[in-house]
Amino acid sequence: MPPKRDDQYAKRLEINGIVQGVGFRPFVYQLANRYGIKGEVANTSTGVSIHVEGINENIDSFMEALRGDCPPLARITEIKSCEDTIRGFSDFSISKSRKEDATSTLIAPDSAVCSDCLEELFNPNDRRYLYPFINCTNCGPRYTIITDIPYDRPNTSMSAFRMCERCRTEYDDPMDRRFHAQPNACAECGPTVTLYDTKQNQINTSDAIRKTAELLKQGRIVAVKGLGGFHFAADAENSEAVETLRKRKHREEKPFALMAYSETEILKFAHIQPEERLILNTPQRPIVLLKKRHPQTISDAVSPRNRYFGTMLPYTPLHYILLGFDFTALVMTSGNISEEPIAIDNREAFERLADIADYFLIHDRDIYIRSDDSILIHAGDAPRILRRARGYVPVPVRLDNSFSPILACGAELKNTFCLTKGREVFLSQHMGDLKNQQAYTFYQTTIEHMKRILDIEPEVIAYDLHPDYLSTRYALALPDKEKVGIQHHHAHIVSCMAENRLEGSVIGLSFDGTGYGEDGNIWGGEVMAAEPGRYSRTAHFSYISMPGGSAAIMEPWRMAVSYLLDGFGDAYKDFNLPLLDTVEADRIRFIEKMIANRINTPLTSSLGRLFDGVAAIVGVRNRVLFEGQAAMELEMIADETVVETYPYEWNNEDPYKIQTVPIIRGVVDDMQNRIPLPVISGKFHATLIRMFSELCEEIRTENGLDRVALSGGVFQNSILLSGLIRALEGMHFSVYTHKQVPTNDGGICLGQAVAAYAQIKR
Ligand code: ZN
Ligand code: ZN
Ligand code: FE
Repeated sequence: MPPKRDDQYAKRLEINGIVQGVGFRPFVYQLANRYGIKGEVANTSTGVSIHVEGINENIDSFMEALRGDCPPLARITEIKSCEDTIRGFSDFSISKSRKEDATSTLIAPDSAVCSDCLEELFNPNDRRYLYPFINCTNCGPRYTIITDIPYDRPNTSMSAFRMCERCRTEYDDPMDRRFHAQPNACAECGPTVTLYDTKQNQINTSDAIRKTAELLKQGRIVAVKGLGGFHFAADAENSEAVETLRKRKHREEKPFALMAYSETEILKFAHIQPEERLILNTPQRPIVLLKKRHPQTISDAVSPRNRYFGTMLPYTPLHYILLGFDFTALVMTSGNISEEPIAIDNREAFERLADIADYFLIHDRDIYIRSDDSILIHAGDAPRILRRARGYVPVPVRLDNSFSPILACGAELKNTFCLTKGREVFLSQHMGDLKNQQAYTFYQTTIEHMKRILDIEPEVIAYDLHPDYLSTRYALALPDKEKVGIQHHHAHIVSCMAENRLEGSVIGLSFDGTGYGEDGNIWGGEVMAAEPGRYSRTAHFSYISMPGGSAAIMEPWRMAVSYLLDGFGDAYKDFNLPLLDTVEADRIRFIEKMIANRINTPLTSSLGRLFDGVAAIVGVRNRVLFEGQAAMELEMIADETVVETYPYEWNNEDPYKIQTVPIIRGVVDDMQNRIPLPVISGKFHATLIRMFSELCEEIRTENGLDRVALSGGVFQNSILLSGLIRALEGMHFSVYTHKQVPTNDGGICLGQAVAAYAQIKR
């Protein structure tokens, strides 16, 4: 052992997190040189290990910079440091990692093209000028191209391409910004784009992207292969093109997402708040719901009856080149047919999408695992994830305590599942509606894929209590595992608790469309005293008939009839209500009979259904084309300045039954008095906000709980979310909401995993 020089120290640092394949070692190398530090850095099975030698204060500055100036895609979750012996290094080096070392580390998500690469992309003197697959250690595809671990080029879909001499030199040079950038490529050696018609004839052009732009300007629909799957692209200012796309895609009213070249373009049709600007520009590049500007030139068919445009900035070099041909915005909607998963494979795309697209802009870098665009909204003073997929997966949610390996299977609509490992919970990307056969297949293969690349073999399976969910059936069919069923609304609340790292008990407001209750009824307007391992129902909406079961979800007028009968008996027929003019009288009579005879009319306490019922009573709509549409449109028309409320009450049973009758009567009164709809909607929202905050106060008086967790799909309603946060905080409650995972069923698996673990421990 060399003698220790007076002022010299040595330290060993173990760094965990996303630190491989993201330019972390070159970053460490450069830092070490900056601070005159000797030693080495290497990849290990859990992250990166660094040996440093130098004078104490240099090591301190080095460690500070390590955290502070970390490369954009890296994510340090933990730095362990200890004293080490001085080994007398003469310089700082990157030591070659051994194969077996790189296994169980975290995998980076896909990331938008970085500013360095963009500069090269549009620099005529750069060798990658206009090369649509330019990337570096700080950007490009990751999760969607990984086939296996370790994350190395042969285990990605880039294995099909042999790097040319110049790319290889960059890849091997620790000082190059493409050092070990697995997808590194150039026009000479990497993937290429080609344009085809629907008969799979290649279009003869020297510039496929320019030609695509021309076709889009002529109103054509082009299937464009992207990072996590195909999009259908259409010129957003061309109503004929957008309407054709709607017709062919059988998507009548769900909003289409837009992509625009820059904020300057976005500002032509939408407003951008400073907080929204940050979300738009993150490397995740999600779709952000932005308030529409009026007037503007985007086709009305893009997002009818909605106050938002779901908008994103380009995230691949190909998008940048395409959008650069002077479009205000392109519609960029998932390349799928209605509820099927997004297409990723070229052959599959030709088969499945040929009835919708006129042309195909494809490339030969395979997408191994599909990943939709993520969707965010800024609401209640924070970014909220509505759909979590590209850019966010597989970044884990980190908990305080370590868990045994669990697979939580999620719910049915907007399904995601998760796998836990140590303190980390890995949520899958958005799977969609599992009732769709292709989505269910995607679900099963993604579970296997994530088990492999994360190196997790679950010992416990958590699932929803709904016996008919395919995720439940999947769970129950797995052999030799411990299985734990978790009530849907409890799972929602525990999910919110988990991402906020809460222990002990909270008041949980679990507001939802549906969810299987332990009494066999359909729950969804639930107030509970909850802890991870158990809950008790403190209050819920009084049960009401849901005529036709799930048919009532698609036909909110049925819920309206149910609430009106409940509130007025037959007398409701004397009122002047739009649905009495717009729904055939014998259909209404039929529903009344179903309710009277209790035929196929499950009972529900759902707040989502109350929204639907009120929306139909006031004439927003009788039928919907996707779940929650009526409720959403009721929110969209609300006058947020209204503070007046309808009468409300709950009776003193255990649990409390919150009465819907006074609210319904108030709404109908206002209809008779010709109060404008925005005021009625505003009053309805204000009623819920005041009623639930008073209810929380009463519960606090009884049991002392002063923390409130908000979860469930209804909290996608930003008026309700921000209103309740404001009201409860005003009453000195601590309020907890979702920021890392969706409040809808896309976040429920996290709660299932944590609740299951708590139950096992008990
Ligand atoms: Zn880059
Ligand atoms: Zn090359
Ligand atoms: Fe739910």
